Amino acid sequence: MTAADRPAVDRDGLRRKYREERDKRLRPDGNDQYRRLTGRFSPNLDDPYLPVIEREPRTDHVTVAFVGGGFAGLVTGARLKEAGVEDVRIVEKGGDFGGTWYWNRYPGAQCDTASFVYMPLLEETGHMPTEKYAHAPEILEHCRRIGKHYGLYDHALFHTEVVGLEWDEARSRWTVRTDRGDAFTAQFVAMGIGPFNVPKLPGIPGIEDFGGHAFHTSRWDYAYTGGDPSGAPLDRLADRRVALIGTGATAVQCVPHLARACRELYVFQRTPSSVDVRDNRPTDPEWFATIATPGWQQRWLENFTANQSGGRAEEDLVMDGWTDLARRYRTRINAVPPGQLTQDTLLAAFEDSDFEKMEEIRARVDAVVDDPETARGLKAWYRQLCKRPCFHDEYLQAYNLPGTHLVDTDGKGVERITERGVVAAGHEYEVDCVIYASGFEVGTDYTRRSGYDPVGRGGLRLSDHWSAGMRTLHGIHVHGFPNAFLVQPTQGANHISNIPHNLTEAGRTIAATVRHALDHGYARVEATREAEEGWVTLLLSGAGRLLGSPDCTPGYYNNEGQDRGLKDRLNVGHPHGAVAYFAFIDRWRTSGDFEGLEFHRP
Ligand code: NDP
Repeated sequence: MTAADRPAVDRDGLRRKYREERDKRLRPDGNDQYRRLTGRFSPNLDDPYLPVIEREPRTDHVTVAFVGGGFAGLVTGARLKEAGVEDVRIVEKGGDFGGTWYWNRYPGAQCDTASFVYMPLLEETGHMPTEKYAHAPEILEHCRRIGKHYGLYDHALFHTEVVGLEWDEARSRWTVRTDRGDAFTAQFVAMGIGPFNVPKLPGIPGIEDFGGHAFHTSRWDYAYTGGDPSGAPLDRLADRRVALIGTGATAVQCVPHLARACRELYVFQRTPSSVDVRDNRPTDPEWFATIATPGWQQRWLENFTANQSGGRAEEDLVMDGWTDLARRYRTRINAVPPGQLTQDTLLAAFEDSDFEKMEEIRARVDAVVDDPETARGLKAWYRQLCKRPCFHDEYLQAYNLPGTHLVDTDGKGVERITERGVVAAGHEYEVDCVIYASGFEVGTDYTRRSGYDPVGRGGLRLSDHWSAGMRTLHGIHVHGFPNAFLVQPTQGANHISNIPHNLTEAGRTIAATVRHALDHGYARVEATREAEEGWVTLLLSGAGRLLGSPDCTPGYYNNEGQDRGLKDRLNVGHPHGAVAYFAFIDRWRTSGDFEGLEFHRP
């Protein structure tokens, strides 16, 4: 369809509709509306996959301790090993590497970003993803592959949670305490706890009273449903009535599997996801051989990021829903006559491309879903990046199956759970099982989600240092916390569509810093106060968050619609975008100057 053929967009009408839909959903309790998996759900937090193996507590010393065995720990561990640091100890709550991919084994789980850029260290480990969007078992196996390839199993402690990190000034090292009684020391510590390490439930009344079966998607109960993570049919649900609460990225992936298996499936929706085309396909090995020439993954990473985050790229290697919005935006910008580019024309171009994209996504619902009332309910009325965009070719189709029912709550959500089922809009739906696809704690303070509060130099607690908001140098170093590093996107590239790219860059940077300290016999490295302040000032000079603006319908992208002031303004990335950050951090770590850090001898 050419631009001329497209129906005119009623901009004011859409803006009004978006505001109305947002206002319906705003609620004063924000993040407090949720609860953790306590009470009847606490056994659900135990590891259903691997038994806990008894071991003696560790009281030894390692060069680097890493909190978290997901992608962050794996890629940082890998870069440290490449830099010749042999004793890297990853401490991980799960029974193996994988992080979110260890826990999330719900049916249909797969990566939403193309495997070639999403799965880290493909070139180093020689793995060809079998699909454009690999499924979860392959990603979990890849985590193990990285662990084996780099010898990261040697020092790892699994089924172990860090409960305390304390800087020992006299000995220039950290004491790491865990829930398994360990109290070992490490010259350096790094933290990669991930954004989805704490599952949450809606804090609705009656949740403990339900008489049937219940679980959270991150702890899928295959013993109850039948089937397995590789997609075998959920063969124990044929006579079951199942309620699924939530319609985010997780629900979008597991609904088709449930819809095929359950006698009746009720999907309780508060806000619809935007569901664009997935277009997954197996990887053709011959094609892969043509692209997998030396340096290929870095080229793909840089190309994806450039296409996504306002950089310049001649071609679009990934070509998917993530790069589509940016492509449309660029086309519009390129059409603006030179000299007429202003902040207003840029914002207008962005809004126009978004309206166009979302109209297409809404039209897709009508094209796919047979029942007009169901189709009406499944349309998302907000800008695409207000909530996590979703991509699927079987989700909307699932609502055409006779046993699958959308229960749209018009933004209000489920009211309560009874002994027999789920109540929405005053109607009780009797079910045998309630599955909570209700997501993870995201907007709460870091030290609440990490489960420990690092104590740095002079007894400074991280929670105190960050009481007014996160403060770092480059999203990695924190003044007052020597020899400690963060591995996460915020205050760095903040490249949300491909989190692993942020992590691999942080891993490289940390490995270079540690190597430098070790080579020169430094006992301690720390960001200076001035450098941290300078970085924070730079962050605050930007336009603020692009993702999840306050105008958006509430969700974790905009802290459930609540303005946390400075905390939100610090919850950003480099003001010039991901491409600029990655270029900057590459120059920074390869220059050998380590500007902003101070190294000290023993
Ligand atoms: P989300 O937080 O995205 O979704 C939770 C869902 O629960 C929302 O639809 C929410 O509605 C709904 N909900 C909350 N309270 C109620 C209530 N009282 N009544 C009815 N519904 C309610 O969690 P997900 O697990 O889906 O996804 C979390 C993140 O994990 C994603 O955003 C994504 O970043 C990541 N993910 C990545 C995947 C991948 O890359 N392959 C796959 C799956 C997840 P509302 O929107 O109104 O708040």
